[in-house]
Amino acid sequence: MKRRKLKIQERQQVYKICEGHCAYCGCKLDYKDMQVDHVTPLRIGGKDELHNMLPACRSCNHYKATFDVEGYRRYLSGISQRLIRDSIPYQVAIRFGLIKHITDEVTFYFETLD
Ligand SMILES: [Zn+2]
Repeated sequence: MKRRKLKIQERQQVYKICEGHCAYCGCKLDYKDMQVDHVTPLRIGGKDELHNMLPACRSCNHYKATFDVEGYRRYLSGISQRLIRDSIPYQVAIRFGLIKHITDEVTFYFETLD
């Protein structure tokens, strides 16, 4: 489960997969800020190999943590339900029309690339 240190060329290869964007949220990502995400986390049997790696921003890498892609999608899809259950400011903002719930569907940036 120990992760190996990537060679510079491997890091660059991972960066190029999404052409400078986070694979998940799609935000623009400077090379120096890229975190290398294990698509299937090592902890649940993912391989420490390039085909299991995607570039991620700090936030996505943090929230994805030990989820695989579908687990991360389910986690994100449940955010609005958790907010409506737990957050009074969110409930008030909805009631006053300050914010609108649009969807629970999550499409990751890498899924929009060919
Ligand atoms: Zn992201």
